[in-house]
Amino acid sequence: MKQFESLRASSLYCNRCKSAMPVRERLLLVLPDKEIYDYLCTACGDSLGQREVGSSEKLMTRAAAQRARGARRSPLL
Ligand SMILES: [Zn+2]
Repeated sequence: MKQFESLRASSLYCNRCKSAMPVRERLLLVLPDKEIYDYLCTACGDSLGQREVGSSEKLMTRAAAQRARGARRSPLL
């Protein structure tokens, strides 16, 4: 699935540099339910995009993992 790779962008198009530039990720904001990351052009420092990471995703993943661990296979299966 190539689409998932774009979620963690390593380079984005920069209007100021007029080409796809490598970016660095910076934690912009931490909210109770999510974290917002800023993508900055490594050449000029312009903000090229943002990414939101919902903490509910993490919680859901954790809960799912716990549920999977707790739900032991029944001897009948
Ligand atoms: Zn740039």
